[in-house]
Amino acid sequence: MITMDDLFALTKSAANVEDEKRVTLVLDPQISAEEAVRQLVHYFGKEEQKAIKLSLEGQDRGYMLRSDIPFLMTFGTRGVDDSAGASLPGGLSDVTLIKLCCPTAGCPQVLLVTNYDENDPPTCDDHETAMERCK
Ligand SMILES: [Zn+2]
Repeated sequence: MITMDDLFALTKSAANVEDEKRVTLVLDPQISAEEAVRQLVHYFGKEEQKAIKLSLEGQDRGYMLRSDIPFLMTFGTRGVDDSAGASLPGGLSDVTLIKLCCPTAGCPQVLLVTNYDENDPPTCDDHETAMERCK
């Protein structure tokens, strides 16, 4: 069973990250680490980013690199018999992430959230402006 601490133990500091876009995955404190892994796998499956910053309860937890994803997925590996006749638990199709962008032109900040309060949206780290759904 993977824990959030296992996940954060794999993250790297910003010095190891070259991406121009600064994408942050805001982890819902309610979700399990397995769910967080599913979100990461889903994200890297769709986007070409090399890394994504993880944030939990307002704290930066470092960057997860694409190259670490295969390693992460081994946490989810189950015995052969366990999966017989069953579909994978919680397929990737049920991962829904909302993409929030900074309204300032050219700002590279992107937030991925599972939910957010439209009346009190998260703000951009650089501009302290309210993030909006990306167009
Ligand atoms: Zn900004």
